[in-house]
Order: sequence, then C-alpha cells, then structure tokens
Amino acid sequence: MKKRPLAIYIHIPFCARKCLYCDFASGPADAGQIAYYMRVLQKEIRSFSAITTLYRVETVFFGGGTPSFVVPVYIEQLMNLLRSQFDFAPDAEITLEANPGTLTEEKLKIYRAAGINRLSLGLQSVHDEELKLLGRIHSYADFLESYDLARKAGFANINIDLMSALPRQTMAAWQDSLAKTADLEPEHISAYSLSIEEGTPFYEKYGEGLGRLALPGEELDREMYHYTKSFLAERGYARYEISNYARPGFESRHNLTYWTMGEYLGFGQAAASFLEGRRFTAPSAAEEYWQASRTSYQRFRAMKPESTREQMEEYMFLGLRTARGVSREDFKKRFGVPFPRVYEHTLLDLYKQGLLTQEGGRIFLTDEGIDVSNIVLAQFLLDERTSL
Ligand code: SF4
Repeated sequence: MKKRPLAIYIHIPFCARKCLYCDFASGPADAGQIAYYMRVLQKEIRSFSAITTLYRVETVFFGGGTPSFVVPVYIEQLMNLLRSQFDFAPDAEITLEANPGTLTEEKLKIYRAAGINRLSLGLQSVHDEELKLLGRIHSYADFLESYDLARKAGFANINIDLMSALPRQTMAAWQDSLAKTADLEPEHISAYSLSIEEGTPFYEKYGEGLGRLALPGEELDREMYHYTKSFLAERGYARYEISNYARPGFESRHNLTYWTMGEYLGFGQAAASFLEGRRFTAPSAAEEYWQASRTSYQRFRAMKPESTREQMEEYMFLGLRTARGVSREDFKKRFGVPFPRVYEHTLLDLYKQGLLTQEGGRIFLTDEGIDVSNIVLAQFLLDERTSL
C-alpha cells in the first residue's frame, strides 16, 4: 500500500522570557518542568503507533516557544523517537525554530547530527530599540552571531522572521530591516505585520484608546507590504504566500502542507492536526494538555471527520493565501463537483471587483485582493442552503 505523505509539528512551549506582544502557548520554565513536558510529549507520540505505518514523513517542524531554548539532547531524543515510529522520506525537510541568543556551536552540531536541515531564526528587526520595545531577549549583534554560527555549522536552508508595523516604526526603519536581512542572503524570509492580541502587555499599551496612535496606520502598513514584495522580488525572493518569500526551491514544504490541505499531525501543547479529514487541536494550557495527552489518540479516533462543506471552505481560505491560488481541476478531483457549481456567484463578484483573477485553470488573489484578503476569504463561507 502506498504510504500517504505526512507533516509533523512538535510544539516546544518554552522561552527564556515572554515577548511583550506574544500570545502563543509559551513561556519560561525550569529544568524540571521541561523534563516533565518532554516525557508527556514522547508518550503522546508513542500513542499514535497504530497508524504510523500508513504514512511517510515528508516534513517535521519544531515550533514554539523557542525549541532552541531547551537542551539539545531533547530534540535529538524526539527525532530518534519519530524515526523509530515513522518511515521518513529521504529528503524530508526538518525545521527547528531558534532564537538568537539561545544558539551555540555545540547545539547546532547536535541539531545537524539529529537530522535538522532547516533553521527558522526569529530576528524581527535589525534595530535594537525595536527589539527592546518588543521585549525580545536578543540584540541585532546576537542575531548576526547566531546566523554566522548556523552557516558555519552547515545549515544551507535558513528562514529569517521579520515583523513590520511596529509601534512608531517608520518606512525607513522597515526598509533598513529588509535590506540588511536580504544582504545576508537567507533562503527564505517571513515578513508579518505585528498583530496586537488581547491579553498581552502590548494590548494594554497599544490595543485601545490613544495607544493605538503609536501604531502605523492601515495606509502605511499596506505601503510596507507592497514595498516588501517589490524589494524582495528584486533581490530574488518570490512571494509564494501572503507573508512568505523564498528563493526558488526553498519554499517551506511544511507550511505548504497546511495551505494545500495536506495531512499533518501535531504533538504537544496547543498543537493542531488534520488527519483523515479530522481537525483537532490540543489544549493550550499546560495542565489541561498533560491530562488530555493521555487520550489524544482515542479522541482523534472518536472524532467525526469534517463535512464536505467545511473542507471546501478551508480549501479556499488556505489555498487562496498562496500565490498559486487554487486549481479548478484539483477542486473537482477532491470534492467531486465542479468549482463554479459551488462558488459561481462569489467568483463572478470578486472578478468584477478586481480582487480575484484566474489563469491556466488556477484562481488567485490580485494585489488589491491581498490588501483586503480577510474580507475576500470570508466570501467563501458557504451557507447551509448551498447545494453541493
Ligand atoms: S520567543 Fe516567540 S514564542 Fe517566545 S515569547 Fe517571544 S514571540 Fe512568543
């Protein structure tokens, strides 16, 4: 039987310190808490042994949190466990998220030996005052040192994360962050706008009232976005998803799995999965996750697969985030109905407004459509009366 491709996500919820804008399931922890979490995580991975033979692992992503914060032997143990449970594609993409200030030559050596072949480095800005304002633990100089160590250790596939629309950020400051990052020639750059989330210190400060005035307005935010796309294109990076840019052949295979509705299995606190048509997410609070992890596999088995309607909506939401968009033929193959039968009016409307376009059997957002992508994507919600 042909094995199905699978992406695995492993959540490591620990960080040296919480950044001021962060609402991820992450935070500081002591060695005892980390050791306990790793035991829980390993048990959870083993509990899926009944289905592991059905899959071939194409990608693994250690995300967080800061996976590079924990002692590297844990990453090595997790990789050994995954390899003992699953069949791996020989060219599997194996990414680890790392923060400057947490990497050493020794750690990088262990990662390489464990099979990690892609690093994702959280830089966010090249300006120390912006890094301080975000509550990051590192300076730009720390980042440069980590980047250099990673290259010397042999990492030939590196992503750098940047963040725009920071409080009081000017266009010139953003251009400088982009230029200095591109000068380093990483294979991949992710450039997201800061989003102010409730429950974070940033929300208290900038979420409401006069505080909001410190944030770049909508117009400057869009200007930064358009500049990013054209500047990075000139430097050889193609935008392949709303906020992601890569040199040819270095698109993140792991993230593409999410956007093309491939199957993925997440382990750990707050980790999301999409397997056999079932979508499920682990609790984000630590203790709830510890409890729930004992029955993750049983809960997955007992879960009802998503309805066709839900899958069609997700297919559109996710696929339209990518520069290639969605394929009419693939839609028909996957759902057994032609695309226009489900979305005819929505498509005509969006074409007319210039927010969507089509070419070679594929449908994708125009630049204007990207500027209002949330509004455009919401048009693909189906109502109960839509005949499928
Ligand atoms: S390093 Fe990342 S996960 Fe950790 S607190 Fe900062 S933003 Fe959140």
